[in-house]
Amino acid sequence: MTASKTANKKLLVLPGDGIGTEVMAETLRVADWMAKRRAVRFDIQEDLVGGAAYDKHGTPLADKTMDAAMKADAVLLGAVGGPKWDGLSFDKKPERGLLRLRKEMDLFANLRPAVVFDALVDASTLKPEIIKGLDILIVRELTAGMYFGQPRGVENLPGGGRKGVNTHTYTDAEVRRVAAVAFELARKRSNKVCSVEKANVMEAGLMWREEVTKLHAAEYKDVGLSHMYADNCAMQLIRNPKQFDVIVTDNLFGDILSDEAAMMTGSLGMLPSASLGARDAADRRLALYEPVHGSAPDIAGQGKANPVAMLLSFAMCLRYSFDMGDEADLVEGAAKKVLDRGLRTGDIMQPGKTLVSTKAMGDALLAELEKTA
Ligand code: NAD
Repeated sequence: MTASKTANKKLLVLPGDGIGTEVMAETLRVADWMAKRRAVRFDIQEDLVGGAAYDKHGTPLADKTMDAAMKADAVLLGAVGGPKWDGLSFDKKPERGLLRLRKEMDLFANLRPAVVFDALVDASTLKPEIIKGLDILIVRELTAGMYFGQPRGVENLPGGGRKGVNTHTYTDAEVRRVAAVAFELARKRSNKVCSVEKANVMEAGLMWREEVTKLHAAEYKDVGLSHMYADNCAMQLIRNPKQFDVIVTDNLFGDILSDEAAMMTGSLGMLPSASLGARDAADRRLALYEPVHGSAPDIAGQGKANPVAMLLSFAMCLRYSFDMGDEADLVEGAAKKVLDRGLRTGDIMQPGKTLVSTKAMGDALLAELEKTA
């Protein structure tokens, strides 16, 4: 999963639209700090995606940008979209740029951490004792299952009326490759994987369970494995989320469960994500890191965006693409300290805390990093 520690790390940076450019600017300051203070060499190429790419090239992702993404060790993306481009045809919409990246990079494993910072424990709708110290990771399969299976569509029925069809399909290889990512990540965390499906009512769910069990027995016996039905998992996440470490699940259940887990942490502005592809012959894994939030047109250009989700996405990039766990810890630690000091952007503002701008949040993060140098 890693690039060599000494070689330059090829990073393709795609700030995108709206607050994407603002939060990326703060992350690039941190990358710059890493280069200066930690002697990490990043070979950074910046390019356009989404509406910004459409305005320049007439397409939300130029072929040359796609090529650069395939050659990069990792891609960092801000966010795409905005009202300016809402009227475009479907194939020109900013979101198509992101979808093309995900598709051509074959990013099949979507990593969605849900981490509760002590300073924000009251921002959750759940009781503090339930979520304090929460640190779980949902690995969602992203390229198969219900959202891609054939047949799909809406048919007109002979006697009138209509029938809507979507098909949930997985091959054994598709299950095994995402489960392998979950087991490998668990080894770097608390070493527990919970595999989630509906083996009780779905044949494909039963096959999922069998394949995960076989892979575990063959290659990952050192990792704790449990299985859970998706409906129970949805309940357990609210009842006792700290029982989980890594959850691996399919595309549809993962979509729902990762949003459920995310909301325990309080704000969109705090949520990072990663999407990983397969390893190539040189053991390089294509990877895209992006915050969960969108381009937030309502606050874009006003210096109000929370840069932490983007910054934590960069920390994931350091950890998972570059094997720089120490540096990732530094970035996450700096974010925690800034929050402990009471600094808040508007989205996570609480009574008695200090409201700051995107840039001031970035300044404070750099100041915390500087203390560690
Ligand atoms: P959004 O995530 O952009 O914003 C939802 C709400 O959360 C807004 O009130 C916004 O101000 C706030 N918010 C989001 N991120 C924040 C941050 N970092 N700091 C402070 N506040 C933040 O979702 P939306 O409004 O539904 O969509 C806006 C545009 O973004 C649309 O064009 C949509 O298609 C696009 N979008 C893109 C992505 C992506 O690039 N991955 C994801 C979701 C939405």
